[in-house]
Amino acid sequence: MEIEKIKCLIIGSGPAGYTAAIYLARANVKSVLYSGPLPGGQLTQTTAIENFPGFPDGVDGFNLMDLMRQQAVNVGADLRTGVVTDVDLSQRPFRVTVDGEKHLEADTLIVATGASAKYLGLADEKKYAGMGVSACATCDGFFYRKKVVAVVGGGDTACEEADYLSNLASKVYMIVRKPYLRASAAMQKRVMEKENIEILFNTNTRGLFGDNGVEGAHLVKFMGTPEEQEFDIAIDGFFLAIGHQPNTHFLKDQLQLDEAGYIVTHGPTTATSVEGVFAAGDVADPRYRQAISAAGTGCRAALDAEKFLFSLGS
Ligand code: NDP
Repeated sequence: MEIEKIKCLIIGSGPAGYTAAIYLARANVKSVLYSGPLPGGQLTQTTAIENFPGFPDGVDGFNLMDLMRQQAVNVGADLRTGVVTDVDLSQRPFRVTVDGEKHLEADTLIVATGASAKYLGLADEKKYAGMGVSACATCDGFFYRKKVVAVVGGGDTACEEADYLSNLASKVYMIVRKPYLRASAAMQKRVMEKENIEILFNTNTRGLFGDNGVEGAHLVKFMGTPEEQEFDIAIDGFFLAIGHQPNTHFLKDQLQLDEAGYIVTHGPTTATSVEGVFAAGDVADPRYRQAISAAGTGCRAALDAEKFLFSLGS
């Protein structure tokens, strides 16, 4: 069995991973980046980004990630497509398996695997996967032109998705379990001002129905109270926007995680509970979860990894 040996393995290709790759390549540290299942990460699924400095007119999420990728290539980073499926952090060099078949040994690791959309956990979400259930309005919104859709959630993501969909669909319901939106004031204002967005407060989803894909949702208002009331809405698409969970499953409890599964880092560095393993971006950030802060921690992880390799004498 052939085992490739590398100094630093970067896992993930969002802003954190690409930034780490750029810094390490420029420092002449031999690193390899594996993209993960979604090359470019979550930002490839968003529309205009107006808060990433350097783009006075905003930038499309997909384009921003492609620019980062190109920049990493231009400075000599080794970028590869593949998913890290297993790691053994019990000894150094760390052993890593990619796509279940390729084996690597790495002196340091930078985990930048980000986070993925959460689902409600309803059996119907699986039943109608690809048939009306989606967690990405910008990917799938196109299919719902002049149709009726629902977005679940009351945070910034839900408002952004509802706003985006309202420009395509004839009507957008927002299904919000609390009596208020959690989103920023600006996003709240935006959805409140849209005539074709209707917000259903205090409402939960019980299930979905339809013979050929989603045709409606079973909802319940004031769930668990004496005023509880069940009702159905007719919809063609059901979009989840209820937050994200960190992609740490492949670590199998080998690193200290918090109760939500985010990697715990020992601030102000990106060091984790295992010496030589660093974490950057959303996978270690339950608080800020912004592209710019992910890029910042990618830079810090690269500098931390470089310093660690220097301490090993390599
Ligand atoms: P949030 O955690 O902020 O919001 C999640 C929403 O989903 C809440 O309304 C929550 O309800 C609801 N929810 C969670 N679980 C369930 C459930 N099981 N059933 C029904 N509803 C549920 O996640 P976001 O993805 O919206 O945002 C994450 C972070 O990213 C935030 O800090 C946000 O500000 C930021 N962000 C910033 C953007 C920007 O600046 N342009 C754009 C998008 C996100 P409840 O309130 O009851 O908990």
